[in-house]
Amino acid sequence: MLEPADALTQILANLADVAPLPGERVALEAAQGRALAEEVVAPRSLPPFGVSQMDGFALSASDARSPGARLRVAFEVFAGSPPPPELPPGACCRIFTGAPVPDGADAVEMQEEVALRGGTATFARAAEPGRFIRRAGSDVREGAVALARGAVVDPGAIGLAAALGRTELLVHRRPRVALLATGDELVPVDRAAAPGRILDSNSHALAAACREAGARPTLLPLAADDAGALGAALRSAEGFDVLVTSGGVSVGEKDLVKAALEAWGTRLAFWRVAMRPGKPLAFGRRGATAVFGLPGNPASALVTFELFVRPALRALAHLRGSGRTELPARLGSPFVKAPGLTQYVRARAVLEEDGLVVEPLRAQASGDLTSVTGFEALAVLPRDATALPRGALVRAILVSPPLSRVAPPVSE
Ligand code: AMP
Ligand code: MG
Repeated sequence: MLEPADALTQILANLADVAPLPGERVALEAAQGRALAEEVVAPRSLPPFGVSQMDGFALSASDARSPGARLRVAFEVFAGSPPPPELPPGACCRIFTGAPVPDGADAVEMQEEVALRGGTATFARAAEPGRFIRRAGSDVREGAVALARGAVVDPGAIGLAAALGRTELLVHRRPRVALLATGDELVPVDRAAAPGRILDSNSHALAAACREAGARPTLLPLAADDAGALGAALRSAEGFDVLVTSGGVSVGEKDLVKAALEAWGTRLAFWRVAMRPGKPLAFGRRGATAVFGLPGNPASALVTFELFVRPALRALAHLRGSGRTELPARLGSPFVKAPGLTQYVRARAVLEEDGLVVEPLRAQASGDLTSVTGFEALAVLPRDATALPRGALVRAILVSPPLSRVAPPVSE
């Protein structure tokens, strides 16, 4: 059976011809969190003109080489003022933070270092050329690359793009994901479940996981465990970047999803991964569509999504890696597992003084819904381990920041 790491390698290699998805031009706000599909070249310098960093006085440093220099104040410049006239020789000007520095001035002195009396400024210390001035183009020069292709658009990138006058950015398209929950027992969440039936929860959990991964989920109508129904449902998945099914992919008599995917034209790359939860995972391609058959148990579906679908969605969106932090951690309590399968244990993660500790949730049954929430980490228990003692060193995949029991830094 395929090892989890090899399964992920196969998936990413398989998507090399479709990832990343093409770029689309979107409003600045809609670009957040996405990867740039263009190089943003500065159409202007930043700052566009020399700017004062202080409220104070602009002068030529050569006019105040030693403490006590006295200069006439020729005029005032405020932030937003039009470009001021050139500074007359032997004079300074009043200037405020963000105001354009006049020609002839190469330094600004902060007002705390200047005494103003009767239109004359006395400088308490020698001026230093360049002090408290942000030179034109010192941040970005016109024509330079301000944001590299592939950069993730974070709030600062949006600010930089805005400063350069950009209202739109070319970013890689978000993957469009079709979610298909399968099973005779399933009922949509807004209907009453008759005896023997259950409400479909996977569609909603997986849609949330898609959104968290930066993708755009669409819920397809539920499909029964029946070749005809599955075939019809799959036809409605055409045109999506990714199809994620849940349920019906194991070895039961009613597990018809694999056959239905193949009948639909999916070329399966693998089925079954040596892991728990989530062993009967299937992956393949149908044309440009990446196809994931996830097991139906809620924990299996979410864990396999986290480990395999999420990195694939990110690769399509040109985002690097899983976007998760992986750290070594110690087990907070002993854990007994079956040999031969890597086990991904849902665990609280606590940052203690001497490192990260992962405390497995008590319920690990893959059908339980109460244990697919309220964990910060998946603790990775090695394939060949059987009984792990408390304190055993494991890998922890952090799906959210760990709780912290480390004392806050001592204030000075
Ligand atoms: P399966 O993978 O089809 O054998 O399903 C395994 C278990 O997961 C069964 O108990 C199903 O009822 C349950 N299950 C399958 N699909 C869903 C779903 N969409 N929502 C909630 N539970 C599900
Ligand atoms: Mg089923």
